[in-house]
Amino acid sequence: MAGKKAAEGKKGSSPNVYKYFKIEGDKLTRGRKNCSRCGKGVFMSKHKDRNTCGKCGLTEFNQ
Ligand SMILES: [Zn+2]
Repeated sequence: MAGKKAAEGKKGSSPNVYKYFKIEGDKLTRGRKNCSRCGKGVFMSKHKDRNTCGKCGLTEFNQ
């Protein structure tokens, strides 16, 4: 008699993180840096020669 189903919807999820992932699309893979301005939890977008923060717009150029 084990017919109990856990069909309860998940609550309390914060889609903020996924939002940032979407901005990057498939480009977001490795080497994510935390924004030096926003701090931990805010990842920077990795581009060819620079990293940008999707939150505050900070741009760091690679050297
Ligand atoms: Zn930032």
